[in-house]
Amino acid sequence: MAMAGVLAISVGLFLLTVYVPAVPPWVNWLPSMASCLMLARASWRTAKVCGRDRVARRLWRDLTVVPLLVMLGVVGDLRRAVVDPTFDGVTHDIPTAVLYGLSILSLIWMLVRLPTAQRREINHTARFALDAATVGITTGIFAWYAITHAFGSVEAAGPNVVPMVVLAALGLCGSLAFVKVSMIGMGGLDRVITRLLALAAAVGAAGGGLTPLIFDLRPGLSSSHVTISATMLVAAFAADRQRRIAGVPPEVRPRRRSSLVPYVAVAATDGLLLFVGTAAGGIFLVVAIAAVLLTALVALRQVHALLENDRLLRRVDAGQAQLAHRANHDHLTDLANRTLFEQRTREALAGSDRRAMSLALIDLDDFKAINDRLGHAVGDALLVVVAARLRECVRGDDLVARLGGDEFGLLLDGLRGTEATEVLDRITEALRRPVHALGYDLLVSASVGLAEGWADAEPQELLRRADLAMYAAKERGKGRHAVYDAELEKHQAADAELGAALRTALDNDEFTLVYQPIVRLPDGHWTGMETLVRWHRPDRGFVGPDTFIPIAERTGLIVPLGDWILRTALRQAAEWDRTYGAAAPREIGINVSARQLREPGFAGDVKEALAETGFDPERVVVEVTETAVFDGGVALDTLQNLVGLGVKVALDDFGTGHSSLGLLRTCPADTLKVDKSFVDGIGGRSEEAVIATAMIQITNGLHLQAVAEGVETAEQAETLYRLGYRFAQGYHFSRPLSPQQVASHLDGATVAA
Ligand code: C2E
Ligand code: CA
Ligand code: CA
Repeated sequence: MAMAGVLAISVGLFLLTVYVPAVPPWVNWLPSMASCLMLARASWRTAKVCGRDRVARRLWRDLTVVPLLVMLGVVGDLRRAVVDPTFDGVTHDIPTAVLYGLSILSLIWMLVRLPTAQRREINHTARFALDAATVGITTGIFAWYAITHAFGSVEAAGPNVVPMVVLAALGLCGSLAFVKVSMIGMGGLDRVITRLLALAAAVGAAGGGLTPLIFDLRPGLSSSHVTISATMLVAAFAADRQRRIAGVPPEVRPRRRSSLVPYVAVAATDGLLLFVGTAAGGIFLVVAIAAVLLTALVALRQVHALLENDRLLRRVDAGQAQLAHRANHDHLTDLANRTLFEQRTREALAGSDRRAMSLALIDLDDFKAINDRLGHAVGDALLVVVAARLRECVRGDDLVARLGGDEFGLLLDGLRGTEATEVLDRITEALRRPVHALGYDLLVSASVGLAEGWADAEPQELLRRADLAMYAAKERGKGRHAVYDAELEKHQAADAELGAALRTALDNDEFTLVYQPIVRLPDGHWTGMETLVRWHRPDRGFVGPDTFIPIAERTGLIVPLGDWILRTALRQAAEWDRTYGAAAPREIGINVSARQLREPGFAGDVKEALAETGFDPERVVVEVTETAVFDGGVALDTLQNLVGLGVKVALDDFGTGHSSLGLLRTCPADTLKVDKSFVDGIGGRSEEAVIATAMIQITNGLHLQAVAEGVETAEQAETLYRLGYRFAQGYHFSRPLSPQQVASHLDGATVAA
């Protein structure tokens, strides 16, 4: 750094003047001038790079003036030294002293002009003025005393010494001002910078005052010859730092409220007073001691009040910290809340050009069911345990948040790919242990979606991707995780396209119904028909219900579609009755989805459709999945209303959902449809075979009917019969049939009869 070089030259030159009488003292002013100019230029450049930081920009622009004023003062001294070889180098002529004074005054004025970070601006300015006065008076007294007593030789200088004392005092005030500013954190200025500037001001002020110390070395030498360069160098360090941190927001640190400065000043003056008093003796000493005691007492009293104040303010601070914590955290689990999560996501993305990061969304499967069935207290206890387990699975600097309800968020800073999915594996594993909540041992699982951050990612987009992945995970079956990729996006687009097509399909009569017989064992006589919906898209052909029913449920389209299915099936059943009388299928099964059961008017719609067709409600079987009713609440109420109409209820896919046998007590079911997966395993000694056996025993015990689904072979049918099953359904007996196929079968049957 060039300015360090200038300082080195100053020191060298200074030593040279001390030891080589041929060198005139005034040459020492030349490096000082150079350093002033250099600092002025550095300040000006610094002001320009401050950009949007208005406060810093103004500070550095104003600071350009100070070294220029100092330089003009130096020119004054130089001029005098050149024209007057007897110049002592200590005292300044009045214009020069005014220039130096102006430089310090402009420094102070600049600081006073800074916007305060706090509201109590006037208060603060007043306190600053008081502190400055205290220090000014103290420095003045000391300087006066030092110059008039310790260095009697200067007395010859006479009244010219006054400007020097004033300058030293002013300089120290300027320094103090910077210290104050850095402590209070005025206007968001960087503390290191303000402290460096304070140091610069102090060095400059002290520099002038040190001259009497070197007075004996050689007349005409001034300590300022070195200290001006030093001052400018320190200030240049501050400028340098300002340029480096330009654009980085200043940190907000708690501020210290009281300053030691006045006490140090009072103590120092008291010391001087005692010293002088002792020398004078007599009544003067007594008065001095009394004054010292008095000031000490007043100071003590004030310190006491300040300590008390500090204590109170700390308590307020603690309260405030608590409030801030509450605003950013979830009350129940004490995890971060959505606000904090989104904020931290934004921050992580802003700083992620070098670092990897991943975001995961975690949704508990079937939490609502637990909440509804066991009560909110149990649900809350469950969430607390889950929160603790999630925290166990991540490192300290990862963020776990509760985003609402049973949804959690995870911010994995620095992780991606397998590193991130390993965390998700740990989570899945941790949640597998039963959760003990208020006396219940609950099994929970969670679906997790993961998305990786990328350069210039938008937080909302990252969240959307994680959300998409989470839904994909849920669709693939519970308790899994999925990672976002472009494939998912295509999937989503295909779903959206299907959803749109579904909307028009109903109007365009693209749906048809087929009917699969439910038969009696062992003779295979038709006792009922299950209604199954089919969709033929004119442009793309057949679409299976496993594909479109979930989408229809999500979009709500299942409600009008279900209504159409219900009316069409009942009309069909009534027609079979009219045509075939006693030979017509006795029962008609209709699949009803969870979404339909939650629709408030659903039972009313069924009643209406029954009235319209005149079909006997006792012969209608509504097939619902366990999961739909396990959710409890409205769905269960609807079911009760249906039972009130006389309609029967079958629990579909029994054994694959929650399979809580307790459900059989709350849910008014008449029939269990034992899922195909149990039927498939029935031949061997597998777990499924054991369950199929247990299930028939349970249904018999509870006087329920059991229907075995998906029977594909004669052996299966035989085994089922042996186990006690009396009703079955499956390709072995018949595939789902169109109304025409049903009619031709029934026609044949009537002929045969
Ligand atoms: P589900 O209610 O369990 O219907 C039985 C499914 O098993 C039907 O498939 C049927 O064709 C098939 N199936 C019957 N016997 C056998 C067999 O021996 N082997 C095999 N491999 N499969 C057999 P489908 O028609 O594709 O329906 C699939 C699911 O879509 C249904 O499962 C049901 O959940 C839903 N679904 C179908 N129609 C409707 C409807 O009208 N409304 C509602 N809400 N859902 C429906
Ligand atoms: Ca069914
Ligand atoms: Ca089924």
